[in-house]
Formats: sequence, C-alpha cells, structure tokens
Amino acid sequence: MPHILIVEDEAAIADTLIFALQGDGHSTEWVTLGNAAVEQQRQRPADLIILDIGLPDISGFEACRQLRRFTEVPVMFLSARDGEIDRVVGLEIGADDYVVKPFSPREVAARVRAILKRMAPRAEPVSNVPGLFVVDTLRMLISYRGQPLSLTRHEFRLLQSLLEQPERVLSREQLLDAVGVAADAGYERSIDSHIKSLRAKLRAVAADAEPIQTHRGLGYSYSPSHS
Ligand code: CA
Repeated sequence: MPHILIVEDEAAIADTLIFALQGDGHSTEWVTLGNAAVEQQRQRPADLIILDIGLPDISGFEACRQLRRFTEVPVMFLSARDGEIDRVVGLEIGADDYVVKPFSPREVAARVRAILKRMAPRAEPVSNVPGLFVVDTLRMLISYRGQPLSLTRHEFRLLQSLLEQPERVLSREQLLDAVGVAADAGYERSIDSHIKSLRAKLRAVAADAEPIQTHRGLGYSYSPSHS
C-alpha cells in the first residue's frame, strides 16, 4: 500500500486529501510543519509527499531542498499562487508535479496515481546502448566509462531518454515528457539546467568527451561517437 505524507497547515484541505487518498487505497500521514515533514521522512519514508508551499515554519520549497539532500521521493507541491516563477523553481529543485489551490482532491489523487505509476521500474532494462554507457533500469543506475553516476531522478530519466535514441534530437518538450513533468510555459528552460548539471557529472568522468550534444533551437541528442 503506497504511503503518502501530506504536509499542509490547513486542516480542512488536509482532510479532503486524506479522504481522497485513503479512498484510493493509500495510507496517509499528515503533518503541518515543513521541519516535521523532513523529520517524518527520515523516520518513516513515504512513497510520495504532498507539500504545501505556504507553511508556518519553513516554506515548502525549503522543505523540498532539505528533503533532496537525502531522498529522491516524489514531491507534489500545493500552492495558493499560480505564478510561472513558482513552477520553474519547483521543477528545478526536483518537484514532480504542482497543483494550484483550489484543487479537486480527486484530481490530486489521480495525479498521485500517475506519479507512482511512473516511478514503478520499467519491465525491460535498456540494453545495447552504444558507446560507453551502461543503463541498469531496475536499479535506476547509469554507469559511464565503468563509473556509476550519482544522478537525481530527473537527471536519470533525461539521460536514459537520450541514450535510448542515439543521434536523435529530442526537443525540450519531449525531454520534459520523459522526465514525467507536464509541458507547460516556462518549464522548458529548466531542462537546460538539468542538462547542465548532468554534463558536469559526465565531465567529472571524462573531461574532453561531449556525449550530450546541443542543437541550437532544437534540443539535445546523445552522440555515441563523442562518448
Ligand atoms: Ca498553507
């Protein structure tokens, strides 16, 4: 039974979420503070966290940053503000989805289902990647030149998508899709920052190689001959 941690200081909102999620067969835990959420995740890790941005102690963004220091658990933000800047910041710090209040609890439950489904490992591991990468889909691990890469979940999905289709140029929109985030105005640019940090990790292994190629105005591709 998937376990969901709800971090929300308004009891009425938390109640409707608990009701919808339990009705969907999830177990739930509810806390009202960001610090309590971080502590709770250390004690009893949830499979997904629904995180309000406006909390009484620290912001949901700050709580997410603290969570990301030790866990890749999927995070869905709840926000009272529908600002593009929030969306971009949310995605850059590793959120999986973003819901603006007021929302339908059933829609949130459906999105939770979708995220958990994406998290389930794919049945077939990627095989025969040309070049110097090895992808272990079940363990969500990619090695480059024999060295396991320490990737965030977003980085893993990005690199995996590129490796699966060598030489094919994938647009930012297609890459967002691969990461599992709905394409939305402003999100596309955050792909660039994920690619940047991914490249830094690849350069730490091989300083001169450039396996991820930039195609100006189009997107990115994986080039085995440059790996
Ligand atoms: Ca709040």
